[in-house]
Amino acid sequence: MIAALLLLCAAVLLVAPRVLVRLERLRRSPRAALFVWQSLSLSAVLCLLTAAPLALVHPLPRSNLAEAVILTIASIASVGVLVRLLVNGHNVGRRIRAARAEHRQLVDVIGRHEGDHTRVIPSQRLSAYCVPGAGSRLVLTEAAFASLSDDQLAAVVAHEEAHLRERHDLVLEFFTVLHTATPRLLRSDAALREVALLVEVLADRAAREEAGEVALGRALVSLAEAAGAQDLTPGASAGAGAAATRIRLLATDDPAPWQTLVLYLACVGALVTPPVLAVLIAL
Ligand SMILES: [Zn+2]
Repeated sequence: MIAALLLLCAAVLLVAPRVLVRLERLRRSPRAALFVWQSLSLSAVLCLLTAAPLALVHPLPRSNLAEAVILTIASIASVGVLVRLLVNGHNVGRRIRAARAEHRQLVDVIGRHEGDHTRVIPSQRLSAYCVPGAGSRLVLTEAAFASLSDDQLAAVVAHEEAHLRERHDLVLEFFTVLHTATPRLLRSDAALREVALLVEVLADRAAREEAGEVALGRALVSLAEAAGAQDLTPGASAGAGAAATRIRLLATDDPAPWQTLVLYLACVGALVTPPVLAVLIAL
């Protein structure tokens, strides 16, 4: 019974993103929306992880076929998710860190050193991105350095500095590990794209504070045009249309406090539901 409910709960939590991704309004509260996405994924993974152990601890009163079926599904889900979490957690982290170390060495060698961690690389493609982690680097191309006005350049730098300061890479890494740990049938790539977009919106908010929406908006247009309007930076993976969405969001006001509050309450609800459900049924 508990296992069936937890599996059902996981399915609902994993289907919810398909609805949430249509609610563009949430993008106006990027930080709270990111918490919602992380809580939903974490909660769904917790449900799947604990389904089998709880079914073993609290079996149905009478042994029957239904119980055996549920226990089998729960065991496959729990063991599958656990193995994927461990393997993916290790692989994703190792792969990303190795790629960053290599990239950092490359930009240190070919780039002009501007201050401690800024490198200007010889490329005619208008671009800016960051290499996060220990020994982080902020990378601009010569084309960006030459083409963007001072205030646009300040906006781009503020955007990348926000990524580095708030460790957005860890948010993406955490979500990617959770995402790839869930069964393929239940996971939604739109969720991953949405989280990547929200991270960009969050950095845009910080840059807007420092450089203003006009400078940032113009810089985004230039970068988007240079990237074929697909993606603003090599580090971003929000996909086609992300640039237009980000520029549109620059002009929107911050949401009413109640909307942000509702989102945080949804996070708490998502995280508390599985354990409360398990405890209530077990009593
Ligand atoms: Zn960015």
